[in-house]
Amino acid sequence: MSLEKNKVYCENCNEKVNYNIIKEKLKEYKGIEVNVEQNIGVCEICNEKLYIIDLEEDNLKRLYSKYRELTGIVSPQDIIDFRSRYNISQRELVAILDWGKMTINRYERGSLPNQSHSDILRLIIKDESYFREKVEDAFKNGRISEKTYSAMYFSVEEENTVTMEDFIISRLSHKPSIYNGFRKFDLERLENIIGYLASCVNNLYKTSLNKYLWYIDFCNYKYNLKSMTGIRYVRYTFGPIIEGKNYELILNLDNKFEKEVTENYNGEITKIKSKNNYDLNIFSDKEIEIINKVVELFKSKSVTEISNLSHDEKAWIETKDMELISYEYSNELKII
Ligand SMILES: [Zn+2]
Repeated sequence: MSLEKNKVYCENCNEKVNYNIIKEKLKEYKGIEVNVEQNIGVCEICNEKLYIIDLEEDNLKRLYSKYRELTGIVSPQDIIDFRSRYNISQRELVAILDWGKMTINRYERGSLPNQSHSDILRLIIKDESYFREKVEDAFKNGRISEKTYSAMYFSVEEENTVTMEDFIISRLSHKPSIYNGFRKFDLERLENIIGYLASCVNNLYKTSLNKYLWYIDFCNYKYNLKSMTGIRYVRYTFGPIIEGKNYELILNLDNKFEKEVTENYNGEITKIKSKNNYDLNIFSDKEIEIINKVVELFKSKSVTEISNLSHDEKAWIETKDMELISYEYSNELKII
């Protein structure tokens, strides 16, 4: 199809030209298989691709909505609905969440929230008492005025407060089975292990944390017949990860560790810092031995090296992508 009006400038031809629209499939976006069709304008004369803002905006809209559908990232409408439920402005919401001034504005206009922002938005939408905590915190710290604070209406009684801890436990708890190493998910163990790991390992990144935990859980199952934390792991392209990508939520906890997010040309990097208040007394000597062995093996290795080790494990090779990894494989672990 050729458009007579709205000629656009072609750098190659150095003049305003008519253009045709071709279809191209975008297979992957941020590591997710999206297969979204894109409309791309090409110069009628030289066939060079042109940047046509209306087409690009339309392409992005379709891409983001597919990506959201596949990853469960919150949609602009979810956020708008949420604000109208409490009758708060975009500015008030960012103040409550302590985010950058324009963040909510951008998300409502269609920008894609990062995973951790999306998790928090999902949480406040779903769980009023969690949101209420955020509001109270914002008021105590002077980020919102008393007027805003007292105008907000909550339907939940204060005693019923659901914490981030409760929410994580509800997402990760399953009956004991071969997929959680016959232990019910134990948040106290998990927090203490992460606090300890972060104190032993110089640079503990989000990506390597998943592998540390996987090896610790699986090695413990191998030698002590139970997993360490009761976490279920899923096979993912870069190695085993905590089911449902719930490490994002876990890293929002701040009892035993805190996260430090920096940006580089690749995007965000999340590093975990220990608060050095971990308690190893809740583990047996044999369990501590396992944790220390994994730390010794990995602490001088890069994220990629650790990832490569996990790719050599039968557990990773034989499990299908995005499926739960059975603790049965722990007997065949190569590293310990
Ligand atoms: Zn041209």
